[in-house]
Amino acid sequence: MRVLLVEDEPHIGSAVQEHVRAAGHAVDWVRQIGAADDAVRSVPYDALLLDLHLPDGRGLDFLRTLRRRGDTLAVVILTARDQVSDRIDGLKAGADDYLVKPFDLDELNARLQAVARRTQGKAIPTISLGPVELEPEAHVARLQGAVVELTAREWAVLDVLLRRPTFTVSKEAIEAALYAFGQEIESNTIEVYISRIRRKLGRDFIRTIRGLGYRLHD
Ligand code: CA
Repeated sequence: MRVLLVEDEPHIGSAVQEHVRAAGHAVDWVRQIGAADDAVRSVPYDALLLDLHLPDGRGLDFLRTLRRRGDTLAVVILTARDQVSDRIDGLKAGADDYLVKPFDLDELNARLQAVARRTQGKAIPTISLGPVELEPEAHVARLQGAVVELTAREWAVLDVLLRRPTFTVSKEAIEAALYAFGQEIESNTIEVYISRIRRKLGRDFIRTIRGLGYRLHD
């Protein structure tokens, strides 16, 4: 799996990166929240290891931002022993698990695997984007409060985008979701679905990122 590590202490960062890599995972290590935000927008990570005290802000604020955007990325908080309240706040803010420093690196790998597995089966939360509100589990969509009917295939396309709303999803990833319906994929199939969804939920609801794919958020 692909892991993003956000940690500003060099010795902890390098030890964690080395150990998680040794377990067969790809680990990108950044030291600040700004770089972490850029990274989660461009790479489909499976898990985030998040220190709470970072040079450019609080890890918890970053976590809240992620969850507010509807991002379901698995998050494990790395916290110091004397900050029990941080741990509670972290779980409230949407962390999936936490580890107290100094932690055992094998324990870290085990927890990481467990949260990533759980997240894959997790329900996609209700999300509001401008005038659009979506309840993905119930397949209910509203535009300015009025219910809009979407087909099962349109929901399949939306589900791919909603799993990681800040991430640009490639056309190929959306095609893969439609294969499940036995859908024949022509060169313009995805454009057709995207334009149908836009007709129902508004032009600005799905952004086209030229050459890369589609995305819900700015
Ligand atoms: Ca720190």
